[in-house]
Amino acid sequence: MNIPFLDLKQNYRNVKDEVNDAIQDVLTNASYINGPIVSTFENNFAKYIGTKYAVGVSNGTTALEVALKVLDLKEGDEVITQANTFIATVLAISSCQATPVLVDCDDDFMMDVSKIESKITNKTKAIIPVHLYGYTANMTEIMILAKKHNLFVIEDCAQAHGSKHNGQIAGTFGDLACFSFYPGKNLGAYGDAGAVCTNNFELKEKMEYYRNLGSKIKYHHETLGTNARLDSIQAAILNVKLRYLSTYNRCRNRLANTYCERLTDKLLKPKYDPDAIYHLYVVRTDKRDELQQYLREQGIETGVHYPIPIHKTGTYKQLFEGETFEKTEQYAEQILSLPMFPEMSEAQQNYVIEHVNKFFS
Ligand SMILES: *Cc1c(COP(=O)(O)O)cnc(C)c1O
Repeated sequence: MNIPFLDLKQNYRNVKDEVNDAIQDVLTNASYINGPIVSTFENNFAKYIGTKYAVGVSNGTTALEVALKVLDLKEGDEVITQANTFIATVLAISSCQATPVLVDCDDDFMMDVSKIESKITNKTKAIIPVHLYGYTANMTEIMILAKKHNLFVIEDCAQAHGSKHNGQIAGTFGDLACFSFYPGKNLGAYGDAGAVCTNNFELKEKMEYYRNLGSKIKYHHETLGTNARLDSIQAAILNVKLRYLSTYNRCRNRLANTYCERLTDKLLKPKYDPDAIYHLYVVRTDKRDELQQYLREQGIETGVHYPIPIHKTGTYKQLFEGETFEKTEQYAEQILSLPMFPEMSEAQQNYVIEHVNKFFS
């Protein structure tokens, strides 16, 4: 049996007719740029998250860039995030001429809240907690800290569409919340796409200008900006798939629950958190490379998110020279993401469980 890490072809087959119709509408109307379907999707997505506004942008990295841009950061301003995130979070900070500052993660892969305060200086402007793998950062504590030090909070929700923290949905805590609709995310387009959610009218307006070359009326350029628009065809696809997001998320959590119950205790399983939406199912073991190789030989595709901590990447080695982030470094050697996607069948999951358990027996 061959088990893919995720199955986008199956995903498309399940929504084919609706998606084809939605794309056909865009083609028929030839409303490719800033078409009405973009604002329809923005309204529907804002409603799903529970924010007043969602601003569609071209991808998740751009979402972070646009969010940081409208905070008017100056060169040398500092933005705190975590060492075990995807590179995009940190690249977005750098691309706004700000300086990224890293903290370690805690036992559950979330930003270690106890490590934030010692990193705050008079140049710190914002904190970007990342709801990695679909768990949520400790937003209660982070919002208290941010308020105390007068900092903006941008939630990186790229892996957390629908995740909750103490019953409140991710993306409704901070000033801005950045989503990616990369094909493999909980809500995935069939190409690149992203959005920023907010309740702040002023920031929403600034983002709408910024993503569209500083203009709302054609050729009236009022502010600096770039082309970071959400594509109409992707918006149409997302609008269809948004209707299935709750179903997809329920499937993910059912699969995660089964993994938690049936995988051997010889590997470290993630805690089961009913508030999370399991974007990735990440286990830990000191025999990670051997396990990954063994599973590959059985036809099971796995992933590592992420094998190289930010401060050890070529891009950032120099900036963070001499800094160590103990947990992030340890986990980078141990983590393995098992196949998990809404369309995964019981037989496919049984096969994975059987072989993981066999490896350890
Ligand atoms: C996917 C991802 C991004 C970037 O999104 P893209 O759409 O791929 O640009 C940012 N942050 C995290 C945590 C991600 O997983």
